[in-house]
Amino acid sequence: MVYNFNAGPSILPKEVFEEVSRGILDFNGTGLSILEIGHRTPLFQGVLDEAIATAKELMKLDADHEVLFLHGGATTQFFQIPMNLVNEGQTAAYLDCGTWGKKAIKEAKLYGHVEVVASSKDKNYTYIPKGYTIPRDAAYFHYTTNNTIEGTEMFAIPETDVPLVADMSSDILSRVTDFNKHALIYAGAQKNIGAAGVTMVVLRKDILGKVNRAMPGMLDYREHIAAGSMLNTPPVFAIYVCMLTLRWLKNLGGIPAIEAVNTKKADLLYSTLDSLPIFRPTVVKEDRSKMNAVFVMDDPALEKEFQDLCKAEGMYGVKGHRSVGGFRVSLYNALPLSSVEVLTQLMTQFAHKKA
Ligand SMILES: *Cc1c(COP(=O)(O)O)cnc(C)c1O
Repeated sequence: MVYNFNAGPSILPKEVFEEVSRGILDFNGTGLSILEIGHRTPLFQGVLDEAIATAKELMKLDADHEVLFLHGGATTQFFQIPMNLVNEGQTAAYLDCGTWGKKAIKEAKLYGHVEVVASSKDKNYTYIPKGYTIPRDAAYFHYTTNNTIEGTEMFAIPETDVPLVADMSSDILSRVTDFNKHALIYAGAQKNIGAAGVTMVVLRKDILGKVNRAMPGMLDYREHIAAGSMLNTPPVFAIYVCMLTLRWLKNLGGIPAIEAVNTKKADLLYSTLDSLPIFRPTVVKEDRSKMNAVFVMDDPALEKEFQDLCKAEGMYGVKGHRSVGGFRVSLYNALPLSSVEVLTQLMTQFAHKKA
């Protein structure tokens, strides 16, 4: 038995792995592999159409929002967004609440004036800044809903008339939220949506066409919309895995159903951590992420011992990001509650043995 707490690429549903392996050998009874069919065939068009339709349905998107599947990861969105949305000299507002947001800020500076409205850098990004003002003339306001590395999550959508842009790479589809309040949402697929190699972008068309710079076609959202995510060969296999994962989520009862499980997993893990003084969660209570829990021990030797124990018990990924240290446990949609039960039992035994 193995338990996969990896941060990304990460666990996907077993049913998806089974269907994908069938599709590699014989896609839908065609005798062909999903890896050897043309992207402009009706066979693949069906996969892409279902992925887009299911994403729209799960997120309850209105008719103004488009869904794209693009290359280049969330990291490409860090520059593609300002390139498409902010003119030179114009302001883009950013919230600085973690490693990924910081990278997005750096890239945006290549295209416009960046105003950082608030930062939690003063306390190593262990909380979400609150009570800041977003300049009304900003082209957009960018924030990260879940800070994958630091383990904070922003549950409230900022109140503003400025178009909202959100990096939802690590908590998209994990909890109910009003996706329609956003002008643009992006998410690398490899955490909650599917396989690495594709990024889902949800955007409202009316925000486009307002900048006056020339850009390559591959970076112009309007061209991708016009081409239906097929401006060039799309990442066929990655989109196939996304489609199956979205279908799995829909059959499960959609986002409200998975949110109930995700809440149980997070509650169990954090209540265990809070009850065992040997472990210390690093994030303030109200901002703790339900997707990535970060905690430390005060004794590095004990940390090493617990990490080794987890490995010996078949647990993968119980380790902090190299920039933070300690531990990080990822609890994405596909992780079953039973994995958290096994981990928390191990934590309790370990703490009692060391007490
Ligand atoms: C993983 C992650 C990224 C980076 O995604 P890539 O697809 O590797 O570019 C960006 N933002 C957040 C919040 C992430 O979790």
